[in-house]
Amino acid sequence: QVSDTLAKEGPSSPSYDWFQTDSLVTIVIYTKQKDINLDSVIVDHQDDSFRAETIIKDYSYIIHMGLSHEIQEDFSVRVVENVGKIEIVLKKKEDTSWKRLGHPLENHNLLIPKKDTGLYYRKCRLISKEGVTHDTKLFCLMLPPSTHLQVPVGQHVYLKLTITGTEIVKPYTPVSDFLLSEFKEPVLLNNKYIYFLIKIYPAGLFTPELDHLHIGDFVSISNPEGNFKISQFRELEDLFLLAAGTGFTPMVKILNYALTNIPGLRKVKLMFFNKTEDDIIWRSQLEKLAFKDKRFDVEFVLSAPTSEWNGKRGYISPALLSQFLKRSLDNSRVLICICGPTPFTEQGIRLLHDLNFSKDEIHSFTA
Ligand code: FAD
Ligand code: NAD
Repeated sequence: QVSDTLAKEGPSSPSYDWFQTDSLVTIVIYTKQKDINLDSVIVDHQDDSFRAETIIKDYSYIIHMGLSHEIQEDFSVRVVENVGKIEIVLKKKEDTSWKRLGHPLENHNLLIPKKDTGLYYRKCRLISKEGVTHDTKLFCLMLPPSTHLQVPVGQHVYLKLTITGTEIVKPYTPVSDFLLSEFKEPVLLNNKYIYFLIKIYPAGLFTPELDHLHIGDFVSISNPEGNFKISQFRELEDLFLLAAGTGFTPMVKILNYALTNIPGLRKVKLMFFNKTEDDIIWRSQLEKLAFKDKRFDVEFVLSAPTSEWNGKRGYISPALLSQFLKRSLDNSRVLICICGPTPFTEQGIRLLHDLNFSKDEIHSFTA
């Protein structure tokens, strides 16, 4: 049956199949790609529609159906990486035999450019909200049991709230809690919690509303987006992170990933730009990490320090960068990630080019 499906669809477009036991229905997606993992597939079952979006490079392969029978809320997702096979195991509500899986809905069984899929949202519950600095909070949102979604390193999602009758959407970059849990807990594969560090702007449109939510209230979260690729870490030896303010958020997962998953990595350095000491997010956690892991260094640069500040001062500048961006070996493979307010990032990129870093050695996070 498998080879039949493959032969019909041709080698490049994915295909799917399904089979059942008394209590389970398994949907199998044959992606015909090798670099597929649990980040590659996003599954939702809501309002009688079942939707599985598999991300294959810049395309999405979508299974979208109204199922013929009811299923239980939770399901499991497995990926057989070496053959690029995804299995979604649904639990039947009743032990009856299904004659068909269901009826097709929009874009079902199609491979379409990712940019044409539109943002798909699910409602997530606010689990906790705690102050990190005077204006930045750590929000924890929980995905519904009927969703499988993991936000890849370097990607962001959109949060959506209805504010005085209008839907407002803003991008935010999830962080991991590894700096808080001090490496004690391994990341759970079926992790349902998504953490965000969000700065509240009192005169802002979205963040004051977010701040006013109560525990248990809902916020919608979109599918992940972003052009950072894990392959940029391949054979990396030196990683430099330039972050300003909440531009620190993409660096959290990058830092965690780099220190755990890049075997040849020699050095990770974070230069963290803020206005004042009070604005520095997770300062003591970063200092602790630098103390514990000799590969990691952190430097704080303040643009509006008090007179007691003994550290570095000012905006991003040639002097700061040329001193900071020292390769651990003459020819070591480097990646520089930069994120912050637009003028900071634009100025930073210009300075990096002036210092002869190539395009491939720089990744900037922008809208
Ligand atoms: P806005 O209404 O956009 O206002 C922000 C500030 O600008 C306020 O102080 C407001 O008074 C001022 N302002 C607004 N309009 C004007 C104007 N015309 N002239 C002068 N001042 C003005 N932020 C995070 O905190 N955490 C994240 O993880 C994060 N990730 C992001 C990822 C991406 C890809 C991008 C592009 C942005 C990210 N941001 C993040 C920023 C976030 O998307 C919002 O821009 C931010 O939260 C402000 O939203 P807001 O609606 O509350 O404020
Ligand atoms: P902030 O106003 O507190 O400034 C932090 C530091 O940025 C300053 O100390 C300074 O060093 C630098 N900076 C500010 N303005 C500058 C300028 N004109 N030129 C050079 N350097 C300058 O920052 P914030 O309020 O935390 O804002 C963070 C920004 O990062 C937001 O604009 C947000 O949208 C952006 N952000 C983007 C992404 C992304 O694109 N993926 C992710 C997170 C945050």
